[in-house]
Amino acid sequence: MNRAGGGELNQHSEKGKLIVITGPSGVGKSCIVKEVRRQCEVAFSVSATTRSPRAGENDGEHYFFVDEAAFKQMVDDDEMLEWAEVFGNFYGTPAAPVLDAVASGQKVILEIDVQGGIQVARKAPDAMFILIAPPSMEELKSRLAGRRSETPEQMDKRLGKAESELRLARESGVYTREIINDDLDAAIQRVVVAINQE
Ligand code: 5GP
Repeated sequence: MNRAGGGELNQHSEKGKLIVITGPSGVGKSCIVKEVRRQCEVAFSVSATTRSPRAGENDGEHYFFVDEAAFKQMVDDDEMLEWAEVFGNFYGTPAAPVLDAVASGQKVILEIDVQGGIQVARKAPDAMFILIAPPSMEELKSRLAGRRSETPEQMDKRLGKAESELRLARESGVYTREIINDDLDAAIQRVVVAINQE
């Protein structure tokens, strides 16, 4: 059965709530989401991706790790709520689990990139869209450098992408909440408050 239709999502979206959290690489988004999941009663959408698992990542928990053919099949079968190519890999949100969770009244967090967020906004305009931003590009650069998981070339790529991602998110008008991660605990609390207000 084709479950990805945006109409279906709108029909059920009054019950639960979709919460889209976007932010550039290195901004601390995953850290924030991890803690928010601990503090709030929320479900988390597990994305499908064609990238390889990193150390400590488990299939079905952090991502569904699939090959390109399987990913394309899901897209062709209209099983994705949204999808995008990020850093040469494909990432997408399988629609069915999200639709089921929202229909059963749950708040569901989607930690996805800005292109994906904009696609979700078209299908579910009443979702909540949160942009996590760095205090400055200099700060983001030093955080990425401290992470030591990227080569200088990859870091330049990620910084360039971060700038365009922030610009696109702000210009889209979709992200009505912007939270600056200048202090991790404060940023977490701001996201928790926003989610609990719903
Ligand atoms: P990473 O490879 O570091 O886990 O994720 C890279 C980027 O892909 C991050 O910005 C992350 O938010 C984004 N991403 C993860 N899952 C999805 C998804 O399902 N859809 C979209 N559009 N982006 C995703």
